[in-house]
Order: sequence, then C-alpha cells, then structure tokens
Amino acid sequence: MHELSCPSCNASAQYELKNYLLMCPFCSTTFAVDLATGRKDIQADHFIIPNAFDAAQIRNLVFRWLKRMHSDPKNVEREYAVTNVSGYSIPYWIISLEAHTVWKGLIKRQKISLAEFSPSPYILETGQFRRNYRWAISARHNICEHWELVQLHEPKEPVRVAWDGFPLDSTLSRGRIDAATGVKTSKEDLEAELPAYNVREYFEFKYSNGLPILAIEVHEEEALRRAKQHVDLYHLAIASMNVDIPIDICSELEIASVQLIHLPFWHVQYIYRPSNLLRFFQKSDQKNVIIEGYSGGVLKSELALVQQDKIRINAIVCLIAAIMAGFCGVVWHFAFFLVALFFLAVSATSFYLAASKNQKKELANSALSMASDPAAKLGTTG
Ligand SMILES: [Zn+2]
Repeated sequence: MHELSCPSCNASAQYELKNYLLMCPFCSTTFAVDLATGRKDIQADHFIIPNAFDAAQIRNLVFRWLKRMHSDPKNVEREYAVTNVSGYSIPYWIISLEAHTVWKGLIKRQKISLAEFSPSPYILETGQFRRNYRWAISARHNICEHWELVQLHEPKEPVRVAWDGFPLDSTLSRGRIDAATGVKTSKEDLEAELPAYNVREYFEFKYSNGLPILAIEVHEEEALRRAKQHVDLYHLAIASMNVDIPIDICSELEIASVQLIHLPFWHVQYIYRPSNLLRFFQKSDQKNVIIEGYSGGVLKSELALVQQDKIRINAIVCLIAAIMAGFCGVVWHFAFFLVALFFLAVSATSFYLAASKNQKKELANSALSMASDPAAKLGTTG
C-alpha cells in the first residue's frame, strides 16, 4: 500500500499500486498513476450501474425463483435453506462496437438429380450481416473468482460459447422472475424499464449501496483486444451455421467507445433438505445462483434435484427392495425370489442410466474446454 494524493480533491489515502486504476475513497475520482514520473491521469469514462437490492431482498427473490422451479411451491420454504448471500460491484470494460461479417462457403445440394448437371455436389453461397454490441470484458485478472461469472453469454443461436465476454444489454435483461410469472410487473412496466446501460451514473462509491467495490486490474488495451477476439469467434460461429463447409469468414469491427462500468452481481448459495423419504438418499450439496443487482435477473443457476439424482435414488430404493424381497424368499416363500430379481433388474438399469448420464456430462465438459483452446478451434473449423 502506498500513500498518494487524489488529483481531484487532493486528499491523501492508501492505494494498492498493482491495480491499473485507482479510486479515491473521498471523491470517487478514478485515476491512473505513472510510477516512473508520478503523473496522474483522471479516467473520466468511469460509470456504475447502481445496485438496487439488499441481502434480504435477494433471499426473497431466490425463494420466489425456487417456487417457480419447484413442482410443489408450498414446500419450498420448508425444504430449502439459503446458506450464503454475497454481493459485489465488479468492474467491466464496456466496448461499444459494430461488427460487419462477410462469409463464403459451400452448401450441399438437396437433390441428387440436380447434381447430374454439375460435377460438384456443393453450391457456393455468400452472405453478410451486421450487428451492434456493448461487449463486456471483466477488468479482474481472475475471471473465475466468482462462481460461473466466466460464462454469462447465452446466445440465441445454437453456438457453443468459448469466451468469457458478453453483450451487456441482452445479458442484463434476461432471467427476470416477475416478468416470467407476471406477479408484480405488468408488460407495460417491463417495456418502460430502461436497459441497465441507460441508468448508469458517473462512478461514486455510494451507488454500490453497500456492495464491496472490486478494484480495476485489467488494462483498457487488453480488454479491447479480448473483445475483438470474442466477437470474431462469435461471428465465426454464427456464419458457420449458414454453410456446410466454410471457406472464408471475415469480420470487420468498428469501435465506437470504451467505458469502464462497475456492475452489481449477487452470488447466492442454498441447500435442499427434502422433508420426505428423499432426504435419506440426497446429499445436501451447496447449489449456486447468480443474480444481477439491477433488475434481479437470474443469470446462472443450479437446480437441487436433477434427473440423474432421481435415477440414482430410484436405483438405491430398488436395491433395498430387492434385498428385502430376497430375505422374504429365504424365510417365507420361494416366489419372493422372483420379486427380488425384478427389483434387482430395475436397480441395475437405473445405476447404468445414472452412470451413462454422468459420462455424457463429462464428455460435454471436455468438449467445452477443447473449444476454448484456440488450437482445437482451428482444427474444428479448418
Ligand atoms: Zn479525491
């Protein structure tokens, strides 16, 4: 920690110089320091999207969400417990850009008879599209420091996301609980609600409304470079959907502006403690939910009881039934052995199904890590 005076209000305070930008705790001015010359440069384009929630409201929101996801909403209060609620105001570089993509590739002919006139079973197609984004890049070095914040982009297209940046507007407008249930917010209210970007304020500590403000570690140039890479990869994936064999896909990016914005996020952990028989078979793992602190949208979530767990529980229950029937067969009547055999078969099938589902999940995960490896990416598109 080093003592520096603020270039705006002149008050001195302690600063961590390894951070890229420093924030004055008195007047909220953001500035960079050149360690060699001592020169201080004020960063004017620093904003914050105010956090609109407190921990109790977030807890209620998670229960509303759980009720929506649960087949029996009446039991939610009894069976679920929120174990941890923590919020952060996290810095993001927001790069406003327009991307123009031109693509060329081959499409397989539908009718074989047409191919008789041509030696190739493929036809050449070209096209282009243009899109605008406010692309968000985390200004934290460790993008994995909070659960699943590393993959917030959920594109409308069926493409596999292998990047950590995300478009601000579509991300901070999804997953709203009231919008889906129609409980509180009417359609008109929702349409009247401004995009998060429009409610940003010039950065001041007070707008985090109690959330810790995380430091700015990543340089603007790096953020710009990463945003370009992400949009390139995204547009490559979109364009590839048009053709069977891509030949040439080229994106040109026009950067309109770069701003720094602190965004509010909440991380909630909960456990599921079923009140029925399930409780003996279900381990109460911590499950995670990520909520944005502007309008309370659920951005990422884990459900307590997945299909695979249910199959596994079924396997255990059937195994116990088989053992009991087998015991009855020994002490009572031979026919119980047939019942035992039946339960044993069901149990074995369930174990097999649960195991194969697990394997599929692992395969999907390894495919994802392959996709984020540039060398593997080249291999799949080349
Ligand atoms: Zn100051």
